[in-house]
Amino acid sequence: AAPTAIMTGTGVGAQNGVLIKGGEALESAANVDTIIFDKTGTLTMGKPAVEEFVHLDDKVANDELLWMVLCAERSSEHPLAVAVVKYCEARLSELESDFASKVFSPPEFQAVTGKGVSCNVNGRTVAIGNRPFMKLLKIPPADNEVERRMLAMEDTGATAILVAVDGELAAVCGISDELKDDSPDTISRLRGSGVECWMVTGDNARTARAIARRVGLDERYVVSEALPATKVLKVESLQKDGKVVAMVGDGINDSPALVQANLGVAIGAGTDIAIEAADMVLVRNCVSDVAVALDLSKAIFSRIK
Ligand code: ADP
Ligand code: MG
Repeated sequence: AAPTAIMTGTGVGAQNGVLIKGGEALESAANVDTIIFDKTGTLTMGKPAVEEFVHLDDKVANDELLWMVLCAERSSEHPLAVAVVKYCEARLSELESDFASKVFSPPEFQAVTGKGVSCNVNGRTVAIGNRPFMKLLKIPPADNEVERRMLAMEDTGATAILVAVDGELAAVCGISDELKDDSPDTISRLRGSGVECWMVTGDNARTARAIARRVGLDERYVVSEALPATKVLKVESLQKDGKVVAMVGDGINDSPALVQANLGVAIGAGTDIAIEAADMVLVRNCVSDVAVALDLSKAIFSRIK
């Protein structure tokens, strides 16, 4: 390939916030026919907020429950935990509760990847996480009404999480994360130019399906409850089908898949690990820059071929 064309292409990319790590990356980009997008922080803003917090019984006072949840989640770095902490702090201050001044970080804190957190708050066991986490802890499942409420949250694309105190469900919480403005347009544009688009996520199937619908992806192109290794397997299986695969993601969770893909693309305020693993970095956090990058590389490689 002509080095000058590649240099020019790399330069034009940089002017548009598309950082390309070398000519090989540019050539891979020109051949991509399949793109896998991560959901959270890639197609969505990655800034979740609590929409609903439903206290299920009166065994624990409302402010005390908020306090326990706040103590439990403040040691977690998960974006959902950040949203929960912010919500609990705001509610406690609104309620002018004494508990606001008693916040601490429980010493026996435990986080289970892809499931949730648990700890001991003043002699009581608090667990916060998804259904599989509650099942793992042998906490009796939600009754029909609570389950219906969770399903309704999930159908809007929100993530529903459960709170248990001393082995019994105490609250259900709906957390939503806005779509990026340009996600639906970008997917439709890419699909229109013949690129196969997929979405992978650690989130549950129902939430994933609702988000997929809103960005214009059929549920056949959605992989949910995906651990980092599952994301790698998805890339590999498409490659075995002869596809040239780009993986677009922002998180540590995505890094192994970024490495496996023919083209790894880190987006926006992605973690350093994702940026390190990627062949291409989209500085501006715009999903549409994925299409810009592919168009640019195709323009260069059609010229020199
Ligand atoms: P994602 O790739 O969507 O960030 P993760 O694998 O990190 O997914 O988490 C999957 C699910 O595990 C979350 O959707 C949530 O239900 C649950 N979970 C993980 N960590 C926490 C936490 N700190 N608090 C509550 N729920 C959590
Ligand atoms: Mg992500």
